[in-house]
Amino acid sequence: MIAVDGSTVTGALEASAQVVVVGSGPAGSAFALALAEAGVDVLVLEEGPHIQASEYHPDSFGGMRQLYRGMGATVTRSRAPLPVVQGRAVGGTSVINGAISWRLPEDVWKRWIANDPALEETLPWQALQTTTDTIERRLSIRPTPVELTGANDRLMAAGAEALGIDHRPIRRNVRDCEGAGRCLQGCPTSRKQSMDVAFLPAAATAGARIICGAEVIAITQERGSVSGLTGSMAGGGRFTVRCDTVVLAASAVQSPLLLQASGLKRAPVGAHFRAHPGFSMLGRFADPVNAWEGSTQGHEVTGLRADGLKFEALGLDPGMLAARMGVLGRNLRRAVDEDLPHMASWAVALKAQSEGRVKRSWFGPPVRYDLHDADLALARRGIRVLGEMMFAAGAEYVLPGVAGFDKRVEDPSRLAALEEEGPRDPRCYTGVITHLFGSCRMGSDPKDSVVGITGEHHDLPGLYVVDSSIFPTNTGVNPQTSILSVSSLLADRWIREH
Ligand SMILES: Cc1cc2nc3c(=O)[nH]c(=O)nc-3n(C[C@H](O)[C@H](O)[C@H](O)COP(=O)(O)OP(=O)(O)OC[C@H]3O[C@@H](n4cnc5c(N)ncnc54)[C@H](O)[C@@H]3O)c2cc1C
Ligand code: SF4
Repeated sequence: MIAVDGSTVTGALEASAQVVVVGSGPAGSAFALALAEAGVDVLVLEEGPHIQASEYHPDSFGGMRQLYRGMGATVTRSRAPLPVVQGRAVGGTSVINGAISWRLPEDVWKRWIANDPALEETLPWQALQTTTDTIERRLSIRPTPVELTGANDRLMAAGAEALGIDHRPIRRNVRDCEGAGRCLQGCPTSRKQSMDVAFLPAAATAGARIICGAEVIAITQERGSVSGLTGSMAGGGRFTVRCDTVVLAASAVQSPLLLQASGLKRAPVGAHFRAHPGFSMLGRFADPVNAWEGSTQGHEVTGLRADGLKFEALGLDPGMLAARMGVLGRNLRRAVDEDLPHMASWAVALKAQSEGRVKRSWFGPPVRYDLHDADLALARRGIRVLGEMMFAAGAEYVLPGVAGFDKRVEDPSRLAALEEEGPRDPRCYTGVITHLFGSCRMGSDPKDSVVGITGEHHDLPGLYVVDSSIFPTNTGVNPQTSILSVSSLLADRWIREH
């Protein structure tokens, strides 16, 4: 599947293609697949390595070293730094994600169209549905069968049911998943239909060339149009590629950085960055849970999505779970033996309204992002509901993970106190951001957007952006399938117009 492995290139490499796609995650793979199947000469450049499934590390820390950008240790530049977690490999973040698949919700789509009716020309609802049907078929997306759920999932279902909140088995892009619970470290048996397993091999079969270990440094232009790209290989060599069209699919952090590095600093580039900050909770149950067994994430609670809250069971490997328990020293041994197998692990993701900015800085990480008070209040509510569901499912106690509040909550009424009187300082909350949006947003008004409704840059003909950086807002749901659908529709339009 890989035409050139950049880690073996020590000298200069020159190439040409009609279209070059930067990034091989869901956005880049969907675009490259559509073009290759239409007979277009397409080259995919991916900064990360191509790792075989058999080489994936079984534990979280090994997986982070191998497949995550900055070993998973990239954080926001803010008063309360949040990890910004991204994959860096052939297949992008799809290699390390939970395989949760959500269509773009109609309410989110309607809001986008209401704010900018011209978007409907690119994203007509019916075409979005048809494209997503095809993606769902190709990626074998369906609800998690009951035999693959673990106790972690079943307890969440019981807790939500007891409180009367809508819940359901998670729809996932997996084929013959055996519930090994290692999605976040890379599926060792390629059951997860990540891009390196599904779309990229199909694109390569249709003629796309894929170069891994190739970091694009800048987009070049001649006479006011795109002329190609330059960059460096993992082996130390440099490359130059000539092309008529560049398609950025490097993610909502790296795409704006690449535009800025190429001198394309149109006003909103990097602004309006949005995310879904996530917070987790552990709860101890009398019977063993073994939260690392079953499909990594098999059940979700959807009933409070309109309020900006979505809850998921979150299977973690024992090492991660032990770290999250916050026990040290002599007590750790006892906690690992006696408590760890009894811990359920769930998370809440917020459809946060806070906006950040992506900009290269000499003084720290490129993503500036602070949670507003309203989002912090939403986080407290989410943590409260997580705890209430755990108690409703029979938890003996829960660990909210909020500094400055009870480390262990045994009395459910304390959860209301957490929501109402819990710390107002964002540094007390341990969150993470994994869903990223909006930093090169798409729109018909060049004053308010970076790319137009076809994904083409307002200032540089031949340059397109197709990842979730172009989404006008966050979606409130796991974004991979929406990214695949939007990128596919933009690719179809590009094919029609060229
Ligand atoms: C731990 C985790 C779990 C998640 N779980 C889910 C889930 O269950 N369901 C879901 O819907 N979403 C999930 N997500 C989010 C989802 O995976 C991402 O939203 C999605 O992969 C983003 O797609 P993308 O193509 O925009 O970017 P990515 O998938 O991040 O791909 C971008 C690629 O571009 C490459 N790149 C960047 N810069 C350059 C450069 N200069 N030159 C060359 N290549 C470059 C990167 O190395 C990367 O491979 C999860 C994310 C994380 C971190
Ligand atoms: S749960 Fe295991 S087998 Fe299933 S997709 Fe994830 S890693 Fe692969």
